[in-house]
Amino acid sequence: MPDFCDVALPVPLDMVFTYRVPEGMQPVAGGRVLVPFRQQRMTGIVTGLHDRKPAVQTKNVLRVLDQAPVLDNLLMRLGKWIADYYLAPVGEVFRTMLPLSAEFKRAIGYRITPEGQLALHLAGMSGSSARSRKAPEDQLAEFRVLDYLAEGEMVKEQSLRVSTRASKSVLAGMVRKKWIAREDLSETRDAARTVRMAVLKSAEGKLNSNQKTLVDTLAAAGGKVSVDTLQALEVPRTTLSTLVKRGLVVIVEEQAEFSVSTMQARPSPFDFDFSAAQQEALARIQESVSARKFAGVLLHGVTGSGKTAVYLAAMRSVLEAGRGAILLVPEIGLTPAVAADLHQVFGEQVAILHSALSDRERAEQWHRIKNGDARIVVGTRSAVFAPVADLALIIVDEEQDSSYKQEETPRYHARDVAVMRAKMAGAVAVLGSATPSLESYFNAKREKYALLELRDRVEQRPLPEVEIVDMRQEFQETGQEQIISRKLMEEIRQRLERKEQVMVLLNRRGYSPVVLCRACGKTLECKNCAIALTHHKRSHRMECHYCGYTAPVPKACVHCGSEYVYFLGTGSEKLEEILHGLFPAARIGRLDRDTVRGHEDFERVLNALSQGELDLVVGTQMIAKGHDVHGVTLVGVVGADMALGFPDFRAAERTFQLLTQVAGRAGRGETPGKVVLQTYFPDHYAVQYAAQHDFVGFYEKELRFRSWMQYPPYSALANVVVRSGKLDEALEWSGILAKWFEKTRHEGVRVLGPAAAPILRLKQDYRYHFVLKSTSREKLNGLLRSMIVYAVLQKIPRTQVIVDVDAVWLM
Ligand SMILES: [Zn+2]
Ligand SMILES: [Zn+2]
Repeated sequence: MPDFCDVALPVPLDMVFTYRVPEGMQPVAGGRVLVPFRQQRMTGIVTGLHDRKPAVQTKNVLRVLDQAPVLDNLLMRLGKWIADYYLAPVGEVFRTMLPLSAEFKRAIGYRITPEGQLALHLAGMSGSSARSRKAPEDQLAEFRVLDYLAEGEMVKEQSLRVSTRASKSVLAGMVRKKWIAREDLSETRDAARTVRMAVLKSAEGKLNSNQKTLVDTLAAAGGKVSVDTLQALEVPRTTLSTLVKRGLVVIVEEQAEFSVSTMQARPSPFDFDFSAAQQEALARIQESVSARKFAGVLLHGVTGSGKTAVYLAAMRSVLEAGRGAILLVPEIGLTPAVAADLHQVFGEQVAILHSALSDRERAEQWHRIKNGDARIVVGTRSAVFAPVADLALIIVDEEQDSSYKQEETPRYHARDVAVMRAKMAGAVAVLGSATPSLESYFNAKREKYALLELRDRVEQRPLPEVEIVDMRQEFQETGQEQIISRKLMEEIRQRLERKEQVMVLLNRRGYSPVVLCRACGKTLECKNCAIALTHHKRSHRMECHYCGYTAPVPKACVHCGSEYVYFLGTGSEKLEEILHGLFPAARIGRLDRDTVRGHEDFERVLNALSQGELDLVVGTQMIAKGHDVHGVTLVGVVGADMALGFPDFRAAERTFQLLTQVAGRAGRGETPGKVVLQTYFPDHYAVQYAAQHDFVGFYEKELRFRSWMQYPPYSALANVVVRSGKLDEALEWSGILAKWFEKTRHEGVRVLGPAAAPILRLKQDYRYHFVLKSTSREKLNGLLRSMIVYAVLQKIPRTQVIVDVDAVWLM
C-alpha cells in the first residue's frame, strides 16, 4: 500500500490535501475517507495514492469509509473538469456529486460513569446544594444531564443537548470531572440500505404507561414498526431499550423499502403513436446511440409537438439494449403524477430524483442506480451525476431552463455538464426545447450538434393566434392605467360564457410590488437587500423576494413618518382579486410561489383545471410550464415584458422564451387557442417574434446583437462578484482587483467594471462586479485563476469573491 493519499475536502480552497495512510488501512481512489482537518474531522474523496512524502507534516487518515470507489473513473474526471471549468474547489464539486451525506454521521455520544452515578445520588439526597460556586443554571443543567443518562444508555450529543439544554462547555466540564464519558459514534452506517425495525415478541408482564404506548403501537401495526417511528412518539427514549432488555421487543435490520410515488398513473399518459416527424427524430437518436460514440443532438420542437414521448421511446430502447439513460427535467416539471407515469413506462427500472427527497431517500436511490437495479434515471439538476453504468443516452428537457444552473458553488450548468459527461462516456446527449437557448441553437447551426426539428403540433393542431395590445394606446384611450385591457376583458368574458378556460400570466407575485411615500419619495426597502419590499395582502406583511425578510405592513413612512404611503403596482395576488371583481361568477385559481409550496400543490391546481373545476388560473411563470390542459383556449399575458427593462443581456431571450412557452399553453385540445399579449413594448423584437411563433427570426436578430456586443455565444463570459457585509470592504476589495486587472496583461480578455451590481445589496452583502468576456475560454479561465490566487494573497477571503463562469444572471 502506498504511504500517502491525496484527499479532496469540501472546503473553499483550490487544492487537495495529503494524509498518511496508517498500517492496515486501504483507501481507494474515488472512495471516501475520514480525516482530521484543522479542529474538525471531515469526509473527503481520495483522488490519488502515492509514496511522495510531502514537505509539510502530514496527519493520518482516521478511517476508510469505502472499500470500492463511490465515484468511478469517469465521474472523477467529470468532477475535475467541473472544478477546472467553473473554477470551483474540487472537494466542493465532489460533495455536490455525491448524495451520501446521510450515510456518514459524525456523532458524539455520552454515557454516565460510576462517578456520575454517585454525584447524581448525592445531588438527589441533598437537593441541588451548592457544592461549587458555579452559576446555578449550569449546575441545574449538570443535574439534568446526569438524570437523563441515569439508566446507563449511550445518548447522542444532539439529543442530550436538546433534552437537557446543557451547553457544550457544561458537557466538557462534566467529562473533566469524569461524571460522564464521551465516545465517538461516527460510523458509516449502511443507512441508505437498511432500516432498524422493532419487532414485538411478547406483551406479557406488567407495563408502565410509556411501555404500553410502544407495545400498543407495535401491536396495532401488526407487530413491526421502524425504530424511527417509535422514537418519534412522546415517550422517553429509554423505554424501548427497557422493552428490549426484558425481551419483549427485538430490533432487526431490514432492507429499506422506498415508495417513490403514491400517485396513480394517468391512463395511457404517453401517446407512442408517432407522427412521421417524431418517428424520424426517434430513429436518428437511436442510430446515434447504437454508434456508441459521442453525439450531440438538439431537438427543437414547437410547444405541443410531442417531444416527451420521443424521449421516453428512446430511453425505452436504451433499456431494452441493457444500457442506461438519464433524463433531466426542470425543477417544476417533476410532479408526482409524472413520476407515476414514468413508473408505468419503466417499472422498477427507473429511479426518480426530485428535490423533495430526504437525504436518506436520495442516498437510497443513488445505491439503486449504482447497483444497477435502476438503469433509467429521471431527475432535476443534480441527477446529471447519477452513477449510471454504461450510459448510452442523456436527455436535457427544456434545456434553456435557468433551474439547470446552480447558483451556489460549484456554479455548474447541468446542460453543459450533461454534454461533457456524454463526451467522456461516448454517449448521446439530446437537448430538447421549444425555445432553445441561443448557445445551443448556435452550436446546432455550427454543426456541433445535429438539429432535429418537430415543426408541427401533434394531430396537426394549429399554434394559437396572438393578438398584441399596445398598453400605451390603451392608456391614451381610456385615460387611466389599466391592468386588464378592454380587449382581454372581452375575450375572457366570451371564453367564460362558452365554458372554456383561461390562463392569465403576470410574472410578479404578491399584491403590490412597491410602497412609496408621497411626502419624501422613498420606498420601503428590505433590511438586507437594496430591493423594495412587496406587499402581501393575505398574509398581512411585506416580503423581500430575494432573501425572504418580512416586515409588518407600514401605516406610516419609515423614513419621515408621513401617513401618505401608497401601495403601487399589481402582483398576481392583486390580479386575482381584480379578476374576481370583474368576473364574480368565475372559479379562479392562482399558481405562484405563495400558493404552491410543493409539487403536490402545483399538480392540484393543474388537476382542478384539467377536470373543469376552475374557469381561470392566474399565475407567474409557473403557469407557462404546466402540462397539457386541453380546455384552455385563451392565454392572457399581463406585463410579461417587464424583464425587457432589466440591465441583463439575456433579458430579450428570457422574455421571448416566457412568451412562447405561455402562448403554447393555449389550444392544446380540440378548440384552437388564442393569446392576448398586453405590452408596453409592442415593437420590441422579442414581443414581435414571439407573437409570430418565429424562433428562427428571433434567433437571428438576437444573434446580431450578441455579435456586436461580444456576448455569448460569441464569447465566453464570467461574472465576478466581490461581496462583503461592510460597504468599505466591498469597495476596497473590488478596488484591489481593479488595480490588478489594470496592470496585468490579459490579451484577448475584456474586463468591464468594477461597477455596483444591479442589486447593490443582497442578503446583507454589498456587491460590486466585473464582467469578463473573451473569445478564448482558455485565456478567460487563465486570467480568472490568477485573479483568485492574487485575491487570496491580498487576504480577500475566497468565499467573498464569487466567480460565475457562463453566468446566467448578471443581477
Ligand atoms: Zn416618507
Ligand atoms: Zn432582502
